[in-house]
Amino acid sequence: MKDLLGGKGANLAEMTNLGLPVPPGFTISTEACKAYLDSGDAPDGLAEEVDSHLAALERAMGKRLGDPADPLLVSVRSGAKFSMPGMMETVLNVGLNDESVTGLAAQAGGNERFAWDSYRRLIQMFGKTVCDVPGDEFEHALEGAKRAKGTTNDLDLDANDLRVLVDAYKTIFIKHTGRDFPQHPREQLDLAVNAVFESWNAERAVLYRRQERIPADLGTAVNVVAMVFGNLGADSGTGVAFTRDPASGHQGIYGDYLANAQGEDVVAGIRNTVPLQDLERLDKRSYDELLGIMARLEEHYKDLCDIEFTIERGKLWMLQTRVGKRTAAAAFVIATQLVDEGLIDLDEALHRVNGVQLAQLMFPRFGDSTDAELVTRGMNASPGAAVGRAVFDSYTAVKWSRSGEKVILVRRETNPDDLDGMIAAQGILTSRGGKTSHAAVVARGMGKTCVCGAEELNVDTKGRRLTGPHGLVVEEGDLISIDGSSGAVYRGEVPVVPSPVVDYFEGQLDPTDEQADDLVRAVHRIMSHGDRARRLAVRANADTPEDAERARRFGAQGIGLCRTEHMFLGERRQYVERLILADSDDERDEALAALLPLQREDFIGIFTAMDGLPVTVRLLDPPLHEFLPNITELSVRVAVAEARGERHENELRLLQAVHRLHEQNPMLGLRGVRLGIVVPGLFAMQVRAIIEAAAERRKAGGDPRVEIMIPLVDAVQELELVRDEAERVAREVCEREGIELPYLIGTMIELPRAALTAGQIAEAAEFFSFGTNDLTQTTWGFSRDDVEAAFFSAYLERGIFGVSPFETLDRDGVGRLVRIGTEEGRAARPDLKVGVCGEHGGDPDSVHFFHEVGLDYVSCSPFRVPVARLEAGRAAI
Ligand code: ADP
Ligand code: MG
Ligand code: MG
Repeated sequence: MKDLLGGKGANLAEMTNLGLPVPPGFTISTEACKAYLDSGDAPDGLAEEVDSHLAALERAMGKRLGDPADPLLVSVRSGAKFSMPGMMETVLNVGLNDESVTGLAAQAGGNERFAWDSYRRLIQMFGKTVCDVPGDEFEHALEGAKRAKGTTNDLDLDANDLRVLVDAYKTIFIKHTGRDFPQHPREQLDLAVNAVFESWNAERAVLYRRQERIPADLGTAVNVVAMVFGNLGADSGTGVAFTRDPASGHQGIYGDYLANAQGEDVVAGIRNTVPLQDLERLDKRSYDELLGIMARLEEHYKDLCDIEFTIERGKLWMLQTRVGKRTAAAAFVIATQLVDEGLIDLDEALHRVNGVQLAQLMFPRFGDSTDAELVTRGMNASPGAAVGRAVFDSYTAVKWSRSGEKVILVRRETNPDDLDGMIAAQGILTSRGGKTSHAAVVARGMGKTCVCGAEELNVDTKGRRLTGPHGLVVEEGDLISIDGSSGAVYRGEVPVVPSPVVDYFEGQLDPTDEQADDLVRAVHRIMSHGDRARRLAVRANADTPEDAERARRFGAQGIGLCRTEHMFLGERRQYVERLILADSDDERDEALAALLPLQREDFIGIFTAMDGLPVTVRLLDPPLHEFLPNITELSVRVAVAEARGERHENELRLLQAVHRLHEQNPMLGLRGVRLGIVVPGLFAMQVRAIIEAAAERRKAGGDPRVEIMIPLVDAVQELELVRDEAERVAREVCEREGIELPYLIGTMIELPRAALTAGQIAEAAEFFSFGTNDLTQTTWGFSRDDVEAAFFSAYLERGIFGVSPFETLDRDGVGRLVRIGTEEGRAARPDLKVGVCGEHGGDPDSVHFFHEVGLDYVSCSPFRVPVARLEAGRAAI
């Protein structure tokens, strides 16, 4: 009942129903919170309901709230459906006041220290979380008390010290709130409950929800739970535990225990905890009971759980449980362990892992190092392991990397001017900014390792050095290593080892081998199950035979996008220049004829690598000027030649062509099918190369499956023109070679107009492939190359979107066009093959969307193929 009771409340109720020792209490529902937030006041009837549940609680405990001789104390705990960092914390010991503190001491067998410690905790937590009193003022007072006593351990403070501290706390409270600390227990309770309600709309909570797309109207529940005390002496304590290792997934006992302490001390790290195993020695009965409960919880939740517990004078109490967070590796291992234990089936195991985790497991990672030293941790902003020489500005990063050095760009924070340096660097390290900072967003977009917000570091850009804890000094050129998956920063070089999961996908690690570790075995089992379950085919975007081969090893069922532009670069650039400069048909035909055999060879290689599987070749897409020299460089060359009186007709002609082809907005200019229409013979040459290559493969006994794809179509008329020409060329080649060769001609749907007229376009296309990169650009009106660095971090920070629409498909806008295009295309041509070949084809969330819309396949970069396979499997069950 998480909707109504929140996660914490629902699990407390569940544990109570299981008969586990949970202190009595009650949960105020999210409905009450919503009503409070709507009207600004506690809803009618809430006070009465709290009265009656409090009375029941008092009966159960045999104590009364506010009884000076034997007070009932409660904790007031927030708990929403989704756990949200930045929400209000918990107030413990509610119900204590100047009088009942004495009663509490008497009830605890004259333990005055305990009573005053509880009271000072109440004032501190209540002040901080309910009344916004700055927490560090209390901390300072506590530090002062310890210093006066000549100790650093709060256990050394005696009852009298704590009594004095309570007075100091009260003064702080008055100073900040203008009133005395409330003495009436019920007022304390009501104020705390209202504060929890209001915390739902705290700034950080609002921002977090917007980014995580958690609905703003869920509200939080409030749990009122009778206090149990871990701070009653050496036979009491408090701890946290996992039912298995959340790092590796291995079974065992994982937890921390702290004797003579109250809840938050463990997490706060105030004193050193002991490993949970030690509890066996300290209190065997509670220890055994705890292990029994942990097994019981795993059986009930059928998953790894984390728990909070407290022992009060030898009696164990369960204070919280939930399905625990875990590392990516543990997620896979635990899921298959649970299958083996008969708790879940393989379908469920497939649900328990995801593509984001799989992608994490595919990054290379740091191996063990003896001489690198961990210096600090920042935020794990973009995964991977990077090693390089520290550089402190973009210029040096570019310069050094050009001369073959590996560098790490170190900045306080990055801005768009750092882009070149970020591209040149192996990784990026910043001392400021969070996971939505410029550095983090851009690095993730580039797939580059990034650690951000390492606040212990001091970046001295002018002095070209980095200083940090324990006298750390890193000068420009010193080696550092950063781990984008954990946020760790090392001085020196940590060796990078390839991921065993990639070795497995590459076929270099046999999962049935004795040597294979649990992780590889688990990945293999879950992937195999996903492959059996999925309906979507997965292809790869690959432009070279090497990429095609790797994609095939990774499980690709064909190529969904083979770009041809790289076939026009390098030494072949000269032919392209000739093509562009051609004054006559003859000159142009000559240039094309020179390109033809080269392209044919390229295609033969790719068809060979993908033999028996479909290969979608996209005809040339980018504008021609991309193949010409840079305009500035060329102008300089012409000017220099002129000044020296040298011959420069060629340069001059090139320069004129560059000027002629210059576009203000090339993304929306002369490219794709438009090129095919205005540059005679260009597409025909490409089609000829493709068909001749296929014919040759066929004659050699191969099985080429050709799909020719026309980019950037807006209108069916464009496609018809190009299609007629392609068919003519194909017919000609087949007749000449005397073979029959099946092939498909289709188009990319990457402009809104094409999606909206998909019914017409399907008349002339045998397949559609959604080019969601361009479709996102043109639907949002965002130039991908410009906007990410320019303003996406601001958009993410302001919650306009939680994730870049170039990363995860925007279902509402771009997704709507995909849906319309698919439905109307299929209505016009029922056997239309439909896929997607944008970056989104390898994005987990987007894959689920493409499954829902009913596409036939997704295509993504070779490295993402396993991720897409896994998510397509998850989407299908
Ligand atoms: P969080 O969501 O931050 O874990 P909790 O509501 O669980 O907040 O409480 C914070 C700490 O106080 C935890 O360590 C918890 O175990 C402890 N705690 C909460 N309620 C009680 C209680 N009734 N008696 C003793 N300790 C409690
Ligand atoms: Mg808790
Ligand atoms: Mg495109």
